[in-house]
Amino acid sequence: MEYETIIGLEVHAQLLTRSKMYCGCSADYAAAPPNTHVCPVCLGMPGVLPTINRQAVEYTIMTALALNCTVQVNTKFDRKNYAYPDLMKGYQISQYDAPFGTEGWLTIEADGQKKRLGIIRVHLEEDVAKLTHRAATPAEAFAHRTRASEEAYSLVDVNRAGAPLMEIVGCPDIRSPEEARQYLVKLRTILQYLGVSTGNMEEGSFRCDANISLRPMGTQELMPKVEVKNMNSFKAVYRALEYEVERQKKVWDTCERVVQETRGWLEEKGVTVSQRSKEQAHDYRYFPEPDLPPLVVGREWVDAIREKLPELPEDRRDRFVREYALSAYDAGLLTGSKAMADYFEACVKEAGVPKTELTKKAKEIANWLLGEFIRLLNVSNIEINTSKIRPKALVELLKLLEQGKISSTAAKTVFEEMFKTGKPAAELVASLGLAQLSDAGELARLVGEVLVKNPQAVGDFKAGKEQAIGFLVGQVMRATRGRADARTVGELIKARLAG
Ligand SMILES: [Zn+2]
Repeated sequence: MEYETIIGLEVHAQLLTRSKMYCGCSADYAAAPPNTHVCPVCLGMPGVLPTINRQAVEYTIMTALALNCTVQVNTKFDRKNYAYPDLMKGYQISQYDAPFGTEGWLTIEADGQKKRLGIIRVHLEEDVAKLTHRAATPAEAFAHRTRASEEAYSLVDVNRAGAPLMEIVGCPDIRSPEEARQYLVKLRTILQYLGVSTGNMEEGSFRCDANISLRPMGTQELMPKVEVKNMNSFKAVYRALEYEVERQKKVWDTCERVVQETRGWLEEKGVTVSQRSKEQAHDYRYFPEPDLPPLVVGREWVDAIREKLPELPEDRRDRFVREYALSAYDAGLLTGSKAMADYFEACVKEAGVPKTELTKKAKEIANWLLGEFIRLLNVSNIEINTSKIRPKALVELLKLLEQGKISSTAAKTVFEEMFKTGKPAAELVASLGLAQLSDAGELARLVGEVLVKNPQAVGDFKAGKEQAIGFLVGQVMRATRGRADARTVGELIKARLAG
């Protein structure tokens, strides 16, 4: 049977505030020893009173505006009650029926078409402590009369407890794992442009839970949904959802029912496994947080925040097309990452070319970034802003190429070395002996040698096989170790063989 896939994503993003959500503890605890960023409030001591972090509220409103949400006037915080070892107070201060933002959307490109994906709500809450599960050493196991096993005991680090956490709940508008991936990439890019979160999934500052169900194509019935957790990369989300689509298909095809439950993604095995049956919302016994007053968001405040909104990805893409005459496709790729777009503009500025040459130079820089640079970044799995090649260094390399001091083949070699070592282009050209072979006599001699050594290819070319020239050019390039200009070499060979 044909099925339709229904996916809705819930994203939790840590906010880049200086202090935690309801107390004055520093939220910059990433490098701190465990349990050093704590106070009675985030430890959940009886009798303490929380206060609201204004910056966190502003960041949430900024996000709501960027996601085309309606910013609510009457908001409040609610208590979500449940017991878990990582929850210091035994409840979480979250938002239930009066979040900051409601009914927004973001757009993705699906099958060459723009598709709008709905956002149900954007709200603010607090993070929980971090648990680290450890296996007991033989000595510990002996001391406690237990057997050493996988998760013999757990350590609690309270530093993260009470850090501001923004939740963005998406509508079940997503129809495939690929659309889900695009939604996440777009959402993360927007948060990075706003500067409200690092959006780093591997470090857990951007986390995603996915709800997924299947229904027979053409029906509108809501089928039991499965919540998938524990995915810590975009790729993991994609793979986990692909796995669930296939698993649920099989369950329905064998005339059984998919059970509503929470499943965890096991990265190494590439499967989801059942964790628990899904709790209903009323299990949390939400009620208005008695220690915090309702928060009225004045229109002037919202207007002031709107004024401060930075340029967002789509606006920047359109500006790149206008200002640098890039194709919409290239501009989209460059602005898809704030770091990449910033790097591109830094290079353009560094090149300092007159207006008349701006678009040519911009195109050249874009080609390098979207070609060689992205390739090496992907291979070494790093972001462009942490690369050893700074914009100034890349522009210097392009200048050497433009001035004919190195060939384009040599430029690629130098670029790879720059990427590895961070050394300047000119220094590497000298140390690697890659300066362009500009001595016409030397080049003519090498061409002559190659022609003598390869009578077969020469014969082929003379017999009309045009592609034989490519082989001969390749041989000369090899003999010069890429120091010659391939086009010049091609012309030399043709002239020689025509004569
Ligand atoms: Zn605290």
